[in-house]
Amino acid sequence: MVKKKVKTCLRCGKEFTWEEFKKKDIPEKFKKHLWSKKKFCTAECQVLNNIERYEKNKKILDEHKTCAWCGETFYRTSNLRDNVWKAKKFCNIRCYNQIRAANILAKDMKIPLEDFKKLLKKIFIEYHDKS
Ligand SMILES: [Zn+2]
Ligand SMILES: [Zn+2]
Repeated sequence: MVKKKVKTCLRCGKEFTWEEFKKKDIPEKFKKHLWSKKKFCTAECQVLNNIERYEKNKKILDEHKTCAWCGETFYRTSNLRDNVWKAKKFCNIRCYNQIRAANILAKDMKIPLEDFKKLLKKIFIEYHDKS
């Protein structure tokens, strides 16, 4: 017998029932065990719960760097391992994408990357300020 027939999702608070769970296409012998472990109404809630917990546990550390693209200071977060932090050069993915685009275009246009970076930075930053 199943002890608890109705459970409450630990993330969204929605109730879900054994009756519904029973209908799922899971081998019969695993059902009771899986049900006893089940804490979330859906796989989505479980994934979101993990992400939220991870974000919440992320701490900003007392180490910082200057973004190689926009020049902003950015801080290390506790989820970054040493080698990841060491390799990190940009404050966010947008800066990373912009410098990648700059690299490709500079090569195509045969302009020295440093000159091209200055030009692009001007365009991107002016554009960014306006938006
Ligand atoms: Zn839920
Ligand atoms: Zn940046």
